[in-house]
Amino acid sequence: MRIMVTGGAGFIGSALVRRLIEYTNHEVMVFDKLTYAGVLSSLAPIAHSPRYSFVKEDICNPEAVTGALRDFKPHVVAHLAAESHVDRSIDGPAAFVQTNLVGTFVMLDRVLNYWRGLDLAGQATFRFHHISTDEVFGSLGDQGFFTETTPYDPRSPYSASKAGSDHLVRAWGHTYGLPILVTNCSNNYGPHHFPEKLIPLIIIRALKGERLPIYGDGSNVRDWLFVDDHARALQAVFEKGAPGQTYNIGGNAERTNTDVVRTICKILDRLRPLANGESYTRQITYVADRPGHDHRYAIDASKIQTDLDWTPSVTFEEGIEKTVIWYLEHEGWWQDILDARYSTQRLGAAHG
Ligand code: NAD
Repeated sequence: MRIMVTGGAGFIGSALVRRLIEYTNHEVMVFDKLTYAGVLSSLAPIAHSPRYSFVKEDICNPEAVTGALRDFKPHVVAHLAAESHVDRSIDGPAAFVQTNLVGTFVMLDRVLNYWRGLDLAGQATFRFHHISTDEVFGSLGDQGFFTETTPYDPRSPYSASKAGSDHLVRAWGHTYGLPILVTNCSNNYGPHHFPEKLIPLIIIRALKGERLPIYGDGSNVRDWLFVDDHARALQAVFEKGAPGQTYNIGGNAERTNTDVVRTICKILDRLRPLANGESYTRQITYVADRPGHDHRYAIDASKIQTDLDWTPSVTFEEGIEKTVIWYLEHEGWWQDILDARYSTQRLGAAHG
């Protein structure tokens, strides 16, 4: 198949593209604006492939989207392009409304036009797969899980913009018959993760001897999924998922933020011990909480397990070890980012 991946130079998109080129015969076109979060070197391992191509464009540009659809003729559009960082959405929500809402509208509008031009067989097999987050469901107490029927209750500018885009996608499926798929996934982690996010931020700051900031009292819980498992789930959904369906994707790996940071410190104590024999945990500092910080997210992923035979293959302990090793071995990848775009400073404190 020919698969157009918006946001393919980002963290999850690049994992999906690497997987599709390395393990399948699909052709892939990445459509990506290369914002601060787009990292072309994450695609370097597959950039030589004749089955891979790249278009540097904005999903908010209807002519560019139309041209890419006309030229590439995709069987699947996997829509990952988004502004993705909650803290940035607190500082500057406008970009989130523009890309996540307006951009998704432009994609739907142009894709519908393209889909209507396909023959009946092509229309029947085409899929528009929208990649979303569990954050649209709001915040859980200490018990319970999000299912595909949990009512939406987004609470940050990021999750509100993603929730709105999910609604648009379902509306295009319901009203116009566009064969859509929606997936809502928990927190991803792994190689090529942009340094602003918790896990790479902690690894990098630890290695630099800087304090390791944990928001609030560190008790917020997230369900963590290794990014390659997410990529495998996305492939299963657009290859085998039933049009119109939503699938929740999760890692069965709930951890508090303090657990996550302490686990990273223990791995670094073993793999890169400090000269003075102390533990990296001594660098941990609790800082002012994120405004509106959701307490807990947890996913019930039984539908995708039952319908599509997908379960996570990597435990949190295996995945976090692989991730720390990757950052130790790829300092050039993250140092380039720190030099040019983001220097691990606090974002989203909403101090005006
Ligand atoms: P990311 O921020 O690492 O990458 C986003 C990519 O989109 C970048 O390459 C960027 O250049 C591109 N992009 C942004 N605006 C664009 C525009 N206007 N036009 C074209 N390209 C644009 O994000 P990620 O973590 O890889 O997340 C990918 C998708 O998965 C997002 O839709 C996100 O909401 C969703 N998601 C992420 C997580 C997570 O834990 N990271 C979890 C669940 C769902």
